Parts: sequence; C-alpha cells; structure tokens
Amino acid sequence: MSIDIRCARLDPEEISRNYSELHTPLTELQAIQESARCLFCHDAPCTEACPTDIDIPGFIRKIASGNVKGAANTILSENIMGNTCGNVCPVEELCEQVCVKKTAEEKPVVIGQLQRYATDHVLENWIQLFQRAPQSGKKAAVVGGGPAGLSCAHRLAMLGHEVTLYESRDKPGGLNEYGLAAYKMLDDRAAREIAYILDIGGINIMTGKTLGKDFELAELRRDYDAVFIGLGHNAVNALGLENEAVDGAHNAVDFIELIRQEDLSTLPVGRQVIIIGGGNTAIDMAVQIKKLGAESVTMVYRRGLDEMGATEYEQQVAQTNGVLIRTHAKPHRILTLDDQLNAVEFEYTQNDADGRLTGSGEKFVLPADQLFKAIGQALDATPLDGEETPEISHGRIKVDESQHTSLPDVWAGGDCTAGKDLTVTAVQDGKIAATSMNEYLNHG
Ligand code: SF4
Repeated sequence: MSIDIRCARLDPEEISRNYSELHTPLTELQAIQESARCLFCHDAPCTEACPTDIDIPGFIRKIASGNVKGAANTILSENIMGNTCGNVCPVEELCEQVCVKKTAEEKPVVIGQLQRYATDHVLENWIQLFQRAPQSGKKAAVVGGGPAGLSCAHRLAMLGHEVTLYESRDKPGGLNEYGLAAYKMLDDRAAREIAYILDIGGINIMTGKTLGKDFELAELRRDYDAVFIGLGHNAVNALGLENEAVDGAHNAVDFIELIRQEDLSTLPVGRQVIIIGGGNTAIDMAVQIKKLGAESVTMVYRRGLDEMGATEYEQQVAQTNGVLIRTHAKPHRILTLDDQLNAVEFEYTQNDADGRLTGSGEKFVLPADQLFKAIGQALDATPLDGEETPEISHGRIKVDESQHTSLPDVWAGGDCTAGKDLTVTAVQDGKIAATSMNEYLNHG
C-alpha cells in the first residue's frame, strides 16, 4: 500500500461545514415549547440521575416562565461548568435516560439543550451571577486547571478564600480546552466559560507550573492552608507492541488536542485510518478524522458493542459519520513498510471458560496509513512523591465521600480519583471538596 498522509484532504469550507455544531442551539420559541413538555415531576428522576444534583424541573420551569437568568442561576449554582455539560454530558445515559417523557412514541425532554440555552444567555450577555463572600484570610492551592480544579477554585473563591491555581499547560481548562471533540465545543466556548469562572475574582492562575517539577506537594502544604489535587490523567496507556512509535501512529488524546488548538487544514490525515479502543475518546477521534477527510475509518475494540465505554448514542454518531466499528479483536502486530505504518494485524478475541478475554489464534490484517491509540489513560502518581504522599488505591488517589485524601490538609477529585471519567463528575468532585475544605479552613 502506498503511503498517503496529506494535510488539507478537504478544502477549508468543507472542513468547516463538517465541524459545524452537533446540535444547533434552541431558539427562544423552541426552548419555551420544549420546556412546556416537562411534567415537573415531584420526585424528578432526572435530578436524581444528575451527578451535580441540578434541580432540573426547577430550571425548566423558569425557562417556561421566561426567567432564563434564573434558570441559569439554578444550573450554575450546582454546576459552574453547566454550559459545557449542556453540550457534552452523556445525557442519554443520565438525566434524559430516566425522563418520564421518554416512551416508545415520545423522546425525552431535551434537558441538555435547555441547559445550554439558559447558560448561553448569561455567558453571551456576561451576566455575573456569583459574588465572593467577605475574605476569610485563608489560602488554598489547587493543582490542575481542569473541570475539577476550576470547580473547586470557583467555590473556594466564592466562599471568601484566596486561591492559587497551578496549571502545567499555558492555559487552564484541562480536558475542556484540550480534550473534547472540536465539533462538540465550537469556537472559544470553553475559553469563554473559563473566563466567566475566573471573573468571580480571588483566583490567581499560575500557568506553566508542573507538580513534581516546578514545585512539590510538601511546599504547597507548607505555604497554603489547604490543597486540592486535580491532576487528571497525566499518562497514556501503551499497546505494548513493537513499532508503536512508527510514523503514522499517534496517541488519540494528543491528536484531539491538536484538533482543538491548530488550524484544521494543516493536520495530517490518512486515507485508511484505524482507531484502537472503545471509549468516548476512540469515538471522538474516529468521527473527527472522518470529518477531516479520511476515506475509511475503522474502530477496533477487543470486546462487544455492549461492553464499550462509549455510549450507544456515541456509537450511533460514529456510525452515521461513516465509521466502521469492528469488535472482538485486539491488535497483534503493527506492520511497517519503509519505516512507515503499513497495516495492523489483529487477533480475534474470545472469553475462556473463566470468562477471561483471550486471543482465539485467528488473525486478520487491516491496511492502514494512520493509527490512533485510544486505549485509556492513567494517573502517573510520581509527581506526588515526597516524604508524605496521599494514599493511592487501584491506580487512583484514594478519597472519602468528601474527596478528602489520607493527608489531613489535602483533597483530590476528577480523573485522578475513582469514579466515572466525565466532566460533570469532575465538577461535582471539585464542588464537594471545596465544601469540605471550607469547613476545614473555617473550623480547622
Ligand atoms: Fe421534566 Fe422529564 Fe425531569 Fe420529569 S423527568 S421533571 S418530565 S425533565
């Protein structure tokens, strides 16, 4: 197979069309009509299913009565990144999944889109809904400017504490700025939300500062009254195969970051592209490279469709964008030609008598000029090394129900702790941690 990786496989207008909004924003009329479909359930299963406990019928009722600012207040008081979550939350598995309007004949209330409608209103009109409490005189450090760190920093600042947020990159946002599919978070949407969060004041951002390199946990514990760690996933899992670093093979998270930050028409795009993995990152990568003009995109996952980390809705998005999903196969060899990626050999998988996944011995080869690995990320805990470190359990920082670590003055949340790796759960972790930290800061 000839190697044909090319930039600008499509013209810029076509790329721009492909990267237009997944859901066009609701108009005022649509929002009012949709909110009228809500039954304002007393026991609100949608709120029960929301990881950040948003009073969903409460905000929908406000939209129905024309109080859009009030609706945004209800949302953002519980989830300061409610605008992002309105765009990217897997609502089909959370609030909309349990909406009582969802029947064979009817679709659920589009809660995510209504949430976005309300929060767009305050972000676009820059209506600041939050003020700081009188200064407490206490200082907190937050490590990591992703959703967990930003949520924690915002709540601490609101409660009157002075916050310093350390971020290793040159701007905060974490996964929201660098890791979400570009067609889900268009333009400067993520940056605008972060600016709104920081607008509350009392949050000093230190960018380009990496834990374990530029500063140590022990220093933070000495210089601040309390510390929050929101490191996220700072390491990428490897396939463990020869030629993994060959030309044409990429980590999906690195490439998704390029898509978010670079001119789309300058990115290398293969003709025959393989994505290895079955989570939302694999889907985001597959859909985005197809939208950039790859001819064939095949996602290969070692288990069945129902075991994929990606939701059924995400799988449908991939398939409607022309991505072929192959299951029950794992990569066996990466084949090269003239030091470039040429193909990937896979082995079919099966479950043995104990239910363990094993290779069946039967193999097949898929030609490829571009390969993306999306087999998960992990916490590299070495930056936390020092005399006293928070306890690690199953590869994540161990926390209690208040997001408190094993150290008395250190809390943690987001992907570096156990739980679902979602923006919405990270925001909730940061919020819970800030509430507990506030208690500690005020009463010791
Ligand atoms: Fe409204 Fe559906 Fe929630 Fe009931 S479950 S309150 S109908 S959004």
